[in-house]
Amino acid sequence: MAEAKPKPQDVLDQLTYQPPRTDWMDTPVEIRKGMYCYASNPKSVATLGLPNARPWNPLEDDWKLPENWQQIVHEGFKERLERFRSFKVFMDICVRCGACADKCHYFIGTGDPKNMPVLRAELLRSVYRNDFSRMGKILGKLNGARPMTINVLKEWWYYLFQCSECRRCSLFCPYGIDTAEITIMGRELLNLLGLNIDWIATPVSNCYMNGNHLGIQPHAFKDMLDFFVDDIEEKTGVRVKPKFMKKGADILFITPSGDVFADPGTYTAMGYLMLFHYLEEKYGLDVTWSTYASEGGNFGFFTSHETMKRLNSKMYAEAKRLKVKWILGGECGHMWRVINQYMDTMNGPADFLDVPVNPITGTRFEQAKSNKMVHITEFTADLIRNGKLDLDQSRNDYLKVTYHDSCNPSRGMGLFDEPRYVIQNVCNHFYEMPPNTIREQTFCCGSGSGLNAGENMELRLAGGLPRGNAVKHVQDSYGVNMLATICAIDRAVLPTLVDYWAPGVQVTGVHEMVANALNLPGQNERSTNLRGEEIEELKAQAEGDADE
Ligand code: SF4
Ligand code: SF4
Repeated sequence: MAEAKPKPQDVLDQLTYQPPRTDWMDTPVEIRKGMYCYASNPKSVATLGLPNARPWNPLEDDWKLPENWQQIVHEGFKERLERFRSFKVFMDICVRCGACADKCHYFIGTGDPKNMPVLRAELLRSVYRNDFSRMGKILGKLNGARPMTINVLKEWWYYLFQCSECRRCSLFCPYGIDTAEITIMGRELLNLLGLNIDWIATPVSNCYMNGNHLGIQPHAFKDMLDFFVDDIEEKTGVRVKPKFMKKGADILFITPSGDVFADPGTYTAMGYLMLFHYLEEKYGLDVTWSTYASEGGNFGFFTSHETMKRLNSKMYAEAKRLKVKWILGGECGHMWRVINQYMDTMNGPADFLDVPVNPITGTRFEQAKSNKMVHITEFTADLIRNGKLDLDQSRNDYLKVTYHDSCNPSRGMGLFDEPRYVIQNVCNHFYEMPPNTIREQTFCCGSGSGLNAGENMELRLAGGLPRGNAVKHVQDSYGVNMLATICAIDRAVLPTLVDYWAPGVQVTGVHEMVANALNLPGQNERSTNLRGEEIEELKAQAEGDADE
């Protein structure tokens, strides 16, 4: 059950940024309700064949670990130091300059020093020094070394699941140390002992067994899209005809399942359906969906490299089976970090697919020549730039839009301009948040990397403070009423966050706005948007708000 939310002013009042009186190593971890996610369900852990599946509770003293747990961690640490050169370098080169210290949204929102990236990494580094460095072995605590104990392990678990692996801190480190990579390694080590959180373990297990994080069976996935087809017809008078598992289609489309099952992402999914219908009617574009590769997201990424690889492989296996030319990906966050940062050396290169070419414009997507996957905002931006879409921006005139750069597509793949280009071609009113909160420096939604559970709401709202504050700024300055984003987790979590820090602002995907502006051949007069709201009423309301 979700924990009660603290009041915004209470969160702000408790932010003193006063460090505790004791040295960080001597300050014991306190696992506090509202700040952590429930322990992994043993059934999910067992399904994935991961070790030590058993019920356990983070609030109890006994975490039911294997007897030789210290040896397992030591050997796992050693193996990863040998296998991942970057991990070894990151353990050695931090000079503790503190440039990253105030860059983490969880530190900004909680004031807890162990949420400073440098100290989060130090949780592992201290054990690294003790176990693997000569100076650490000789000098011990004087060298910042400490042995692995049950309290250290609990501290790892608590704080490694208070990092959303967003990589903002790495941007400010003069040595390029990527604390997210350290968190990823730490979580891998925890998984060797069966210490995952359930909000990650169960979606990964669902995806492994049923093709998507929500565990939706193929017929239910198709039913949901059929429901959207009816809804689109009701609102536009046009019946779109999505294709499923079509062998020999030009393009396989894969999106996060969150968009198919959770508002407001569902309106973005309707937007994809309308765009594909338009392109098929006008230009004969042949796109297929799949109920097998029915998940673009990859919670395996938050567990271990091995589970990430397993979940990623189904997308390419399906593209191979269907003999499509290339893959078009929906508005997802970590799907793109996995594709751009890991796919090639994990399951690639995907030589059996073509280098993506937009069959309508002839544009060759050189950036995707290895992973063969194009982001839908790149695709739509290309269509708009080549004059291929019939758009009526005025249907979105009641919107004052700002754009949240989702951490993974922005810092992970450099996708900054295409979403903005699309938004500015389908909406007349666009406003940027302050420069130190967008593009490379964007702030996390506070719920990434599998931390979007209900029971850790206090952590999520505190971690979302910098983003919420920036939204509030453009709401107060320009009357912004819509926050657009290209990540399904963002679309799921930002409504709660902005309702808390900037009430009155709503959340949308970019392709919901595209579809609201798109003129479909044979459409009725469009009096409502995809949410079924009367457009003229919304415009009158927006004008009234502006007059006030
Ligand atoms: S990766 Fe993001 S959440 Fe993790 S320590 Fe760095 S800034 Fe904080
Ligand atoms: S900025 Fe880099 S070198 Fe400085 S404390 Fe942070 S991780 Fe260490």
